[in-house]
Amino acid sequence: MSMMDDASFATLKNEVAAWVAGPGEEWSERIEQEGAVPEALVDELRERGYLSLAAPEELGGRGVGFPRFLQLMEHFSRLHASIRMLVHVNNGIWRAVERYATPEQLQEIVIPTIKGEKRIAFTLTEADAGTGADIRTTVRREGDTYVMNGEKHLITFGVSCDWWLLTARLEGTTGHEGTVALLVPNTDLPGAEVIDDSLTMGITGTDHAILHFHDTPVPVSALIGEEGQGLEVALGGFLLPSRISVAMSCVGLAERAQQLAVDFSKERVTFGKPLAKRQAIQFMLARNHAKILAARELVYAAARAFGEGRPDAGAMSSACKMVAVDMLAEVTDNALQVFGGRGYFKREPIERVYRDARAQRFEEGSNEIQSLIVARAVLDGTANYA
Ligand SMILES: Cc1cc2nc3c(=O)[nH]c(=O)nc-3n(C[C@H](O)[C@H](O)[C@H](O)COP(=O)(O)OP(=O)(O)OC[C@H]3O[C@@H](n4cnc5c(N)ncnc54)[C@H](O)[C@@H]3O)c2cc1C
Repeated sequence: MSMMDDASFATLKNEVAAWVAGPGEEWSERIEQEGAVPEALVDELRERGYLSLAAPEELGGRGVGFPRFLQLMEHFSRLHASIRMLVHVNNGIWRAVERYATPEQLQEIVIPTIKGEKRIAFTLTEADAGTGADIRTTVRREGDTYVMNGEKHLITFGVSCDWWLLTARLEGTTGHEGTVALLVPNTDLPGAEVIDDSLTMGITGTDHAILHFHDTPVPVSALIGEEGQGLEVALGGFLLPSRISVAMSCVGLAERAQQLAVDFSKERVTFGKPLAKRQAIQFMLARNHAKILAARELVYAAARAFGEGRPDAGAMSSACKMVAVDMLAEVTDNALQVFGGRGYFKREPIERVYRDARAQRFEEGSNEIQSLIVARAVLDGTANYA
């Protein structure tokens, strides 16, 4: 796999930092004001190659290796969550499908997605089941067709995507057995209902869907991987690195919150002194700083474990996400506290940062689910401190 060289990466990183500080901030304000992600922004991200960073050059990507991609995510995450979401999802979803794709799926679906011309939505969560081996959406094979029944919800880009990377199970199976991953085209399939469910607390402008399927025919050629590999496709290839990327998103957003708080503390004067001179405020900022640094180091440690294919990489990825989301909750809360009452008002960017941050505690699995993964590894000896 050809990867970007050191000099090109240094140039790219500077370019991304400048874009984030300038146009990226302007786009962020516009999304929040308009309540929508302008198509011109998606075009700009595509044309700048920001949707194609992490995939190898052979597949139409820019060949930025994973630890370096994280350095860029740290910058992008300082922006509006909808920009972060576009960059994060498009630079990650190909990992789930690339290794299992047929040559036809590679040409028609994977490569156009990597180029940012098409969009795939990760479609796992269900309202009436636990995430993972509990899923209830079923398929029944009839000749060259899977007949699908079930419901999905909370699906980011589920309205606007071109395909749903959907996890279901063969009728009559339970647990991991019989699960399938399908690249289902988001075209007017018979029996498929797409409900726009985009009114969220944060991440304004990003679409989310509820999906209903009633005897919906899906061609068997939509299968990705083998029957029985559905959860392996969904959870193995995508979620492990994606959790590390979400953890780095927490670091970037926390840095933004901290920057806003530091700037404000120097401007706001109470009882004759700027807030920055008060030890109570200094301690909050110091604690924020230490926690951000610690989380960032853990994210890179997890990225190394993933890169080296270590057996504890899964537990590391969950552990770093747990630590990073808790850190983000504390840092954004402290930052808003520094602003006093005005931080609660929409005219201050910290208000949006605070709301956007809350979503990250659910993305790619809650902390309770990460804890189950880490606890398993701790108890079976996979997790270690080497
Ligand atoms: C903004 C946003 C975007 C999302 N995008 C997507 C997407 O694109 N695709 C997708 O598939 N999903 C998506 N999700 C769903 C997300 O992955 C889930 O919300 C998350 O995994 C939690 O699952 P749940 O909502 O079903 O919670 P539930 O499973 O209903 O859990 C409710 C609470 O109980 C806890 N809990 C559940 N089971 C256990 C257990 N066994 N032990 C202990 N505690 C438990 C949970 O941690 C949680 O606190 C998105 C969610 C949000 C908020």
